Amino acid sequence: MTDERLISGQRRRDDRDNIALRPRLLKDIVGQDSVRDNLHILIQAARNRSEPVDHVLFYGPPGLGKTSFAHVIANEMGVNIRVTAGPSIERAGDLAAILTHLKQNDILFIDEVHRLGRAVEEVLYPAMEDFVLDIVIGKGPAAKNVRLNLPRFTVIGATTRLALLAAPLRDRFGAQFRLDFYNQEALEFILRRAAEMLKVDIRPEGTSEIARRARGTPRIALRLLRRVRDFAQVKADGIITGVVAGEALALLNIDYLGLDDIDRRILHIIIDKYGGGPVGLDTIAAAISEDTATIMDVCEPYLLQLGFLARTPRGRVATPSAYEHLGMTPPERGGQQFLF
Ligand code: ADP
Repeated sequence: MTDERLISGQRRRDDRDNIALRPRLLKDIVGQDSVRDNLHILIQAARNRSEPVDHVLFYGPPGLGKTSFAHVIANEMGVNIRVTAGPSIERAGDLAAILTHLKQNDILFIDEVHRLGRAVEEVLYPAMEDFVLDIVIGKGPAAKNVRLNLPRFTVIGATTRLALLAAPLRDRFGAQFRLDFYNQEALEFILRRAAEMLKVDIRPEGTSEIARRARGTPRIALRLLRRVRDFAQVKADGIITGVVAGEALALLNIDYLGLDDIDRRILHIIIDKYGGGPVGLDTIAAAISEDTATIMDVCEPYLLQLGFLARTPRGRVATPSAYEHLGMTPPERGGQQFLF
């Protein structure tokens, strides 16, 4: 998935150099302590039994490390990883071709696993459960069902939308981990390490300024680091101080909490046009001409986390903190929209 928005967690073309910055082993993973501890046990147990790891599902907003963690598992297990994505496996035959090329203990990483088609899922179920592939040879009355044995392998799925994953598919993942937004300390650590690798001169205040505006997301932190580095090179002898970082990010219209124009427009639409809500996501998306998926995956989780939005059965509601952030006075408490 590509997205030109600077503070979207979704992957962009210029994120490629992040690959060198990816954690390679469990010990390189910063933050997500509980996920890391659980992965450690999963990997150790599999190693002791000389078996592949159980099928793993990672879910959470984009840019939090789902792909990186899949690679960490492969590196720790010393096995090959084959990377693909739900939308690229169009037909059952495509998946059959991938599966028949896997070797014992290999990992098949499927990004956007919620976007697999029904027919493809039907092939994946027996492959995940019994390591077999059912194929039909020939057509019409002469068609024959053939069952092929597959080597024992691991599927690692990643999704930003757990709710869209078919229940039978979800049930086939023995280990499921939700990735949460990173705290300030973890993001600062990731930024310091990246600055060192990229040979960027950054001061502690510069690091904390970028981390604070990175929406709890490593991918965004690294992207902002590169933009701020450019700014520092042109305007400030290449040194990223707190002031330089602040100026660079203000120029990019990213405010001190990491909100950009789209986030602010969402809040304004809810407040100005719909009296604070409730209002449905599709309506908001249409009003600001944005893709509903981007709003659901990128904006909403962070606005919820900040406590600026609340979900109600009838739609999204702007909270008093959202009003305050925009410099507006929240309506009297007890008003209809806050009865949730
Ligand atoms: P996702 O698959 O969830 O969209 P990625 O695994 O591609 O996210 O991570 C995005 C980028 O963020 C990676 O390139 C990596 O450099 C960085 N990153 C993610 N998680 C961590 C982490 N725990 N420690 C250090 N860097 C991380």
